[in-house]
Amino acid sequence: TEKEIAEQQKKEIEELNKAQNTFFSSMSHEIRTPINTIIGLNEMILREDVSDEVADDARNIRSASKMLLQLINDILDMSKIESGRMEITSVAYDTGAMLSDLVAMVWIRAKEKNLAFHVDVDPMLPMALYGDEVRIKQILINILNNAVKYTQEGSVTLSIQCKRTQKGKMLVTYSVADTGMGIKKENIPYLFTAFKRVDEEKNRHIEGTGLGLSIVKQFVEMMGGTITVNSIYTKGSTFVIELEQDIADEQEIGELNLETRH
Ligand code: ADP
Repeated sequence: TEKEIAEQQKKEIEELNKAQNTFFSSMSHEIRTPINTIIGLNEMILREDVSDEVADDARNIRSASKMLLQLINDILDMSKIESGRMEITSVAYDTGAMLSDLVAMVWIRAKEKNLAFHVDVDPMLPMALYGDEVRIKQILINILNNAVKYTQEGSVTLSIQCKRTQKGKMLVTYSVADTGMGIKKENIPYLFTAFKRVDEEKNRHIEGTGLGLSIVKQFVEMMGGTITVNSIYTKGSTFVIELEQDIADEQEIGELNLETRH
């Protein structure tokens, strides 16, 4: 019957999808292993007493292989999301430790570009929340790295505000503001499209794949949150993410001085 044929077809498509995803994840693994070898051995060259020329080449190898690794990781995430195999795992996590890791990473990049990096955390933020720490960090790193990448001078500011909701949870608002190149109004709707980069004329010297924001948006939505953008072209952009999380430790974080923490 027609119904049986339709069901058979559906099953075949599902199997094909599954095979494709298995292929993707094993391929990604196969690619990641040698890239990590390259990165590791190259770091050893950089630590040796080599000529300026060799050191320069080695730094280029480092940046190219890191970029490749990022691309593979993003493709793997995309394929997991598309096949519905991406899961959000909430655990109790230490908010201060998470922020300190995050800030340490972005700090270095901002410093390399001579940008000021400000961090402003609501002292009422609970010491521990329930959430997918790994994905929340990934979201914030992506947005913060973009802010650094697309800003030539000035600053990047991370502010975190929180508000108790009726359900006794915390609505945490993470906002990342930069004084960079900004985004044209007509390009805003395309920002979160996979493989889409905007303003390419100006951005061609900035490395990127156009996958970051698409993954970020899907993670945020899987967590029941929202992401919005405000931007003035040539002046700067602000990305705002809202995520509601359960409180794991009522104790407040207080005044957090991340600069002295690391
Ligand atoms: P990419 O790998 O190109 O950085 P993303 O998905 O992270 O990809 O971002 C998509 C596009 O959005 C970028 O190519 C860039 O044009 C624009 N964009 C993202 N963040 C910013 C920002 N802070 N300021 C200006 N443009 C941005």
